[in-house]
Amino acid sequence: MQLPKYKKKKRIKLKICQEPGCGREFWGHPIAKYCPIHRDIKNRQKQKKDVENIDAKNIVFRHNYTDVLDLKFRCCLEGCDNLFEIKVFPKQFIYPRFCNEHRNDFKRANFMRLMRRKEREE
Ligand SMILES: [Zn+2]
Ligand SMILES: [Zn+2]
Repeated sequence: MQLPKYKKKKRIKLKICQEPGCGREFWGHPIAKYCPIHRDIKNRQKQKKDVENIDAKNIVFRHNYTDVLDLKFRCCLEGCDNLFEIKVFPKQFIYPRFCNEHRNDFKRANFMRLMRRKEREE
């Protein structure tokens, strides 16, 4: 369905820039996130996505092993008690947080959905 053109109004709103530490007010689209300065990605802080990814999917496991070891870890996904084996290497401290089954984003989301449904039914 097409709306008649005259009904299309420019919906400009007073917004606040989402860039951390900026907070400048600006007029923009309802979906606009940044002031004119920070609309340019070069003026924005580097996204900390990589770090977040490490936190979300991995654990920091500090150890003093000097040999490669196979250790059992428990899946960190709530409701999953799977144990999975990880090769632990000397001087390597970042390891997967989830069992093989739940290392996949999609499968993890699916599992969480199932768990929530179960909670509601109980
Ligand atoms: Zn800004
Ligand atoms: Zn799991």
